[in-house]
This record gives sequence, C-alpha cells and structure tokens, in this order.
Amino acid sequence: MSAIIADNHVVTIAYTLRNDAGEVLDASDPGEPLSYLHGVGQIVPGLEDALTGKRAGDALKVSIPPEQAYGVHDPEGVQTLPREAFPPGANIEVGENFQAEIDEDNMATLWITEVEGDQVTVDMNHPLAGETLHFEVSVISIRAASANELAHGHAHGAHGHDHHH
Ligand code: ZN
Repeated sequence: MSAIIADNHVVTIAYTLRNDAGEVLDASDPGEPLSYLHGVGQIVPGLEDALTGKRAGDALKVSIPPEQAYGVHDPEGVQTLPREAFPPGANIEVGENFQAEIDEDNMATLWITEVEGDQVTVDMNHPLAGETLHFEVSVISIRAASANELAHGHAHGAHGHDHHH
C-alpha cells in the first residue's frame, strides 16, 4: 500500500488546532479520528492543500493564514438586532448560530457574539475568520471513496458521516 492523499479519497486524521496564542480551539478526541472526503472542501483549503500528497503515518505541523482558512473578518458582517428579530423560542446566547435569509436566494449563518438586554449582536463571519490556524495532524489512513460517498460529497462509515440513505 502506498496510497497518497488525493482527490476522491477518504482520509482519516487525528488533529489538534491551536490559535496564535497556542490555545487549543479544536481537536479530534483520542481514539476518535476524523474521516473526510478529500478535495471537496470538507476541511479548510489550506489544510487540504497541506495534506495533498501525504501518506498514512505522516505527521505535519502547518500554519494556515485566514485567506486559506475561514477568511478575513469583514466588519460589514456585524450587525446589532433587537431580540424580536429572532424566532420565538430561539436560543439567544453567545456562541449560538442561526440560518438567516440575507436576500431571496441566499442563506447565511449568523453567529451571536454579544447579548446586551434587548440588543443582540450577530456576525456573519465565521467565528474563526481572521485567525491563523495552527494544525498538528497525523494521517491515520487513506482509502478510495465509494461511489456513494462521492455522490454525497462526504465520507461515510466509522468516524465519517453516519447516516443511511
Ligand atoms: Zn451521505
């Protein structure tokens, strides 16, 4: 076996993601690696590029600028809305997110970044927009994707997308 990471392969990785300050933002749980379909944007572009051509057993450390991760932070994406603008029963808490219609054809994810009385500040930018992401990744396995996985655009099975259809 000398599979290398390329498009249309399911790749299983263990990873730790840190910010510039060295704080852990996200990590795969021990014994529960992440499986993803390579080449379709399931992971940020900079990490996908860094993994291309790697083999099972490889470990890498890579720092990814915002442009290759969740984008730069656009101040125009920040708005303050009255609480009534949200659906009844909505969970209005910092860190929650909502799908909102921004015009006839487009939905956006709004992240709540501040709640003060009746005023709710939302941000259309991803919470990691503007951040340089520092990844440590171990490549655990690589296999060809099934036709079904390619049709769905994600990995199935253990550690992948768990559903039946
Ligand atoms: Zn599926």
